[in-house]
Amino acid sequence: MSLTPKEVMYMELMDLHCHSTVSDGSLSPTELARKARHIGLRAFALTDHDNIGGVEEAMKACEETGVEFVPGVEISAAFSRGTMHIVGYFLWEGRNGLSQKLEKLQEARAERNPLMVEKLRGLGLDISMDDVARQAGGDQIGRPHMAKALIEKGYVATINEAFNKYLAKGKPAYEEKFRFPPPEAISMIRDAGGVPGLAHPFTLEIDDSELDDLVVELRNQGLEALEVYSPEHNPDQIRLYQKLATQYGLVVTGGTDYHGANKPDVEMGIGRGNFRVPYALLGSLKKRRDELRSA
Ligand code: AMP
Ligand code: ZN
Ligand code: FE
Ligand code: FE
Repeated sequence: MSLTPKEVMYMELMDLHCHSTVSDGSLSPTELARKARHIGLRAFALTDHDNIGGVEEAMKACEETGVEFVPGVEISAAFSRGTMHIVGYFLWEGRNGLSQKLEKLQEARAERNPLMVEKLRGLGLDISMDDVARQAGGDQIGRPHMAKALIEKGYVATINEAFNKYLAKGKPAYEEKFRFPPPEAISMIRDAGGVPGLAHPFTLEIDDSELDDLVVELRNQGLEALEVYSPEHNPDQIRLYQKLATQYGLVVTGGTDYHGANKPDVEMGIGRGNFRVPYALLGSLKKRRDELRSA
């Protein structure tokens, strides 16, 4: 199916991957809801890392602004190669102790953060946990806050430079943290009434045939969706992910992975300018949610 320019122009849009100050975004849940309204999105999902503390606030703000809200989360899962993030859509707040399960990941961060700061100090950088915590404003700390502290101290110019030099996996200040095995991350989302999806598959850093095998494995473990659309995906990747979603019956989702000023080149809803996720995709996601809940 191809759309006319006019149809594209008036297409309703959404963004199913957004971070707030509750994790490592720079806008509060309320500010995100208002921004979604301001830029004309029909729906948005709050998908903070390992944390659903912003869901209630965003839901209330969305009620006021009239934007359709998708309560979500993005869970770091254990994976031997690159990074695996399992995203959950349409969580029922508090259902089956999801918050308590996520606490384990929040504790793991609290253990890892000072170790990474110690490594940075070992590299001769004068930076403290206080510097990093200040960047997080009292909320959950992630590596982007370390990056911002390094910028503030003048050690690097950009967040990307901080990751490339120090903070990314395999770089000198990186420290592992506990992650749930993928089946557990998937189950905790299903148990909470949500639809589990695989976020930005390219960060797994595996080749196409390995991804095919992995998607089958995750599908057997209860995966229901695939984030086909991300500003980081090139046309070939989008085609491959689309094909995998169709082949294995996964719902197609998409979002920008918006982090506000903590990822300054990616805008909510539009990524680097020409990115769009049609609101029409949300229908299949809701259908899957309803099927899972009535099963
Ligand atoms: P953490 O939750 O502490 O593991 O940090 C994860 C977040 O760091 C991601 O959501 C991204 O926002 C950011 N991030 C990860 N890798 C990079 C990278 N190579 N460059 C810039 N930001 C990154
Ligand atoms: Zn993040
Ligand atoms: Fe992610
Ligand atoms: Fe994300």
